[in-house]
Amino acid sequence: MESVPTSRVIRVAIDVPVFRLFDYLIDPDEPDPVGLRVRVPFGKKVVTGVVMECIPSSEFPEELLKSPIRICRDIPPLNEDLLALFFFCSRYYHHPIGQVVLNALPSWLKSDRDLVPMRNRSYALTESGMIARLTGKNLLELREHLLQAGFLDEAAIRKTFPAATLSRMKERGFVTEVELPFSISKAPELGPEQSQAVLSILGNPDGYRPWLLHGITGSGKSEVYLRTMERVLKEGSQVLFLVPEIGLTPMLENLIRSRFPFTPLVSLHSGLADGERMQCWLQAQAGIARIVLGTRLAAFVPLANPGLIIVDEEHDPSFKQQEGLRYSARDLAIFRAKQLSIPIILGSATPSLESYHKAKTGRYGYLAMKSRAARDALLPSIRLVDLRRYSTPHGISSPLAEAISARLDRQEQSLLFVNRRGYSPALICSGCTWSPTCGRCSARLVLHLRERKLRCHYCGHTEDLVQSCPSCGNIDLKPVGHGTQRIEQTLSGLFPEARILRIDRDNLLRKSSFQDMLKIIDRGEVDILVGTQILAKGHNFPNLTLVGILQADSSLYSCDFRASERLFSLLTQVSGRAGRATLPGEVLIQTEFPDHPLFTSLIQHDYDAMANLLLSEREAGGFPPFSHQALIRAESPSVDHAHRFLRKVEKSARSLAQGVTVFEPVSAFLPRMNSMERMQILLQSQSRKSLQNMLDLLIPSIAPDRSVRWHIDVDPLEF
Ligand code: ADP
Ligand code: ZN
Ligand code: ZN
Repeated sequence: MESVPTSRVIRVAIDVPVFRLFDYLIDPDEPDPVGLRVRVPFGKKVVTGVVMECIPSSEFPEELLKSPIRICRDIPPLNEDLLALFFFCSRYYHHPIGQVVLNALPSWLKSDRDLVPMRNRSYALTESGMIARLTGKNLLELREHLLQAGFLDEAAIRKTFPAATLSRMKERGFVTEVELPFSISKAPELGPEQSQAVLSILGNPDGYRPWLLHGITGSGKSEVYLRTMERVLKEGSQVLFLVPEIGLTPMLENLIRSRFPFTPLVSLHSGLADGERMQCWLQAQAGIARIVLGTRLAAFVPLANPGLIIVDEEHDPSFKQQEGLRYSARDLAIFRAKQLSIPIILGSATPSLESYHKAKTGRYGYLAMKSRAARDALLPSIRLVDLRRYSTPHGISSPLAEAISARLDRQEQSLLFVNRRGYSPALICSGCTWSPTCGRCSARLVLHLRERKLRCHYCGHTEDLVQSCPSCGNIDLKPVGHGTQRIEQTLSGLFPEARILRIDRDNLLRKSSFQDMLKIIDRGEVDILVGTQILAKGHNFPNLTLVGILQADSSLYSCDFRASERLFSLLTQVSGRAGRATLPGEVLIQTEFPDHPLFTSLIQHDYDAMANLLLSEREAGGFPPFSHQALIRAESPSVDHAHRFLRKVEKSARSLAQGVTVFEPVSAFLPRMNSMERMQILLQSQSRKSLQNMLDLLIPSIAPDRSVRWHIDVDPLEF
């Protein structure tokens, strides 16, 4: 009797928009390929896929199955935890598995390019190397590089320096190969609240535990992160550290690097070139990188030996991806911590109401830090300028102008924060109130005075400034509202001597320019800063003692139920910029609603009061975190098509709804964008499980409909 060799079947994730894996045959002698990349024939092409499973036989006849052209063994396989994360992500966000997996990989690994050899040995300076008197340009330069980078791999050193440079440093014991981390921390002594936080986190027995670290701005949350990291790193584990935007937080990266100068750190963000990203990714996978600092996409990085996850500024909406796979990196990080049985710290001065609610109901550990860490650093005093009493001819009221003037006299810095959420400067005709709009979107064009252009902030469409009203011929076209540019103009009129710097997205396209600006501010070469959201993130400007807030009100009457939460958090963050060192800070908010409870809580620095108020509103309205939501959005050039599609969705949803509320299809917040009509339908339930069960049935039934472009957003943040 002849034994027939049985083949095995691999199930491969491929980057196509379908909710399934694809079967291929492999040789039974092939070592287990789960987690490896494969090059497989797919239709007429050859594509890269990832082996998710290996099973004895397929539901398809074997003679129909093809075999992979190549099984890539150049890097270690993705481990089971990561594959499980991908499966979870696909299920939870109802996004095709292949697209989840392939988009989480550095694009290098998806191509057919050869891998560049993996970095092997890395070197760091020893303590004697740091202080030794060196002569010779190469030695000095190498030391400078090592100081900057913390560690460098051999290949990189050899590219820049002759072989002798490194060997001389080695011979004299000035560099060491980095394997085990050892820190030379010159950490400050912890304050009582910080110690309590660190003790709680580290004192907890091993295993999954989420912690909400709720510390006011300046309470020293970073120090708590560093101390917990120190322990985890000493034990030989890796730390995954997620931040909303790396380019905007160079200080944090510098702080970590300087505290753990010999601990290999990689920084993963979308600004990296392909090759760099892949190198960082591989170092994380191999466990060489001990600290992985990254933006939301780092939620998917493979880790050899994870011991701790930190999500800084956990409330920040940029943790949620707004296109393609609409995932929340914070929520996935929590999933991972649970899956890996490790602690996770969610830090914020203004936690998201979701996290705050979980902490208050005991599902997360709650660590509060209510005083500032640095001695003598006081919280700023917050005052309201009642716009019903003061006019603002050019956006700036007289009390604010006086406060700025006082700062100029004392050579201190001021920051004017222009809240642009739900607001933008426009041009309006004084005769007939005509105002230029974008031809492709239902949006007003935003006035860019300096370039003399009108620009659509949704689709990028740009036009020249019109000279007269096309509707009535009037030439008196007036700018309304005050964008950063107009405020800058007003300021230079009011304070001709002052040095003014404007910081917003428009003049900040490059990361380096932002860092340059920070340096200029630090050196005191600026008197008045004008900026948007960007300035709210955690930078310390020691000489900054005044923050003026303009146009806070636009968020108060927004139809987004999260607008108040965001405004409070934004204003708290910006206020936190004032008076961080020993100079007391002052915040002036211009508003027409000085009695609004949001401002009352803000003045009293009372996040809890605000959060409890908003939570009771949310509870009464049945909004998150008291319910779970999913949004199905449809886009079509024809509003009828979009509507018809959503009516069908509504009908199927209603037939499936058990414990799920199905709302009517409505226009999106921005009903037209890029010549597409946009509509949406909201599904909401008190039970996450009921909502998920319904989506499991609903999505396959609407997936084949190609009459419109549609997508699903689970736990949507934007409406
Ligand atoms: P947060 O992130 O909570 O806003 P930071 O971590 O930026 O606060 O800390 C604010 C300031 O307090 C920093 O300048 C930091 O160096 C300082 N700091 C933190 N912890 C201590 C401490 N234990 N003793 C003295 N200064 C501290
Ligand atoms: Zn007109
Ligand atoms: Zn547009």
